[in-house]
Amino acid sequence: MSLLFIAPDRNMSEWVDQVNRIDPNIEIDLWPAIEDKERVQFAVCWNQPSHILDSFPNLKAVSSLGAGVDHLLSDDALPGEIPICRIVSSTLVQQMTEYILGAVISIRRHYMTYLRQKDQQQWQIHNHTLPSQSSIGVMGLGEMGSPVARQLAKLGYAVSGWSRTPKQLDKITCYAGRDELPDFLQESQILICLLPLTDQTRSILDLDLIKQMKSPGWIINAARGEHLVDEDLIYALDRGLLRGAWLDVFSEEPLPDKHPFWNRPNIMITPHAASITHPPEAAEQIVDNYKRALSGLALKQRVNRTLGY
Ligand code: NDP
Repeated sequence: MSLLFIAPDRNMSEWVDQVNRIDPNIEIDLWPAIEDKERVQFAVCWNQPSHILDSFPNLKAVSSLGAGVDHLLSDDALPGEIPICRIVSSTLVQQMTEYILGAVISIRRHYMTYLRQKDQQQWQIHNHTLPSQSSIGVMGLGEMGSPVARQLAKLGYAVSGWSRTPKQLDKITCYAGRDELPDFLQESQILICLLPLTDQTRSILDLDLIKQMKSPGWIINAARGEHLVDEDLIYALDRGLLRGAWLDVFSEEPLPDKHPFWNRPNIMITPHAASITHPPEAAEQIVDNYKRALSGLALKQRVNRTLGY
């Protein structure tokens, strides 16, 4: 029996070392160098090629190599009965919180403008609002969204949150479900997307949503590129409905050379770097779930395949 890593174009040696450190008895396979497909009982995947996950007859469970699972749920080759789990870790949350705080502060304090001014040796002050005057909306109050919202509220920002089911979070005005989305958007001038990518949330950041925001605002997307309708963002920026966007994720990654986002001064681009899985921590969860899958125990950090997250 073996644990198989499928992560094309990634150097997996650190992952193999970490799993071996935790349990040297675990046999590890690395795709595509695998001859005996029958021995694979647990697969850990990131951007796996489609049409391969149904070729392991003894597969018991699959883990994402990161927090997102959209690459697994959209894979038709993954048999319907196979349970899926993902990585949920304090370092992922810490990095995401830091990333979003950095983006919010840069937006409020006009750092992108000052960077451009420096290139032109231009000395010009722009007034900035206080945190309490900045209305922030956090879409998705899960493992990432809740701590981000809490941290912003702690720093004095006026924070609202939106989730599928109702929540109560200290100092955060919480909204839930499609019916309450318009009220949530009305209060959101800096809108942060930390939703999972599902059939319900794909393309949610469109013109209709932007028009309902407290205007003119900003969108920060650190969730998945397919949440955003690219052409609607450009349309909204050109018409002054939005001041700018801060994007970490894109429908196509790497962002193609000719993509119009590159040349927009009011779009910040980071290369899907908001929060990067830390192998020593994630390997502990992978080994734990590998052993659970083999023993017939329920997986930890299990994904609800019906809900899509
Ligand atoms: P979780 O599954 O923990 O949380 C999801 C949240 O979204 C929950 O609050 C859930 O509501 C809410 N939600 C789901 N569907 C809907 C809906 N239809 N309407 C309203 N709210 C909804 O996700 P994570 O916090 O772990 O991840 C968030 C996103 O961040 C993911 O897209 C992930 O891929 C991405 N990510 C990006 C990284 C990067 O480096 N850029 C790194 C790590 C994650 P409820 O609480 O009611 O269930």
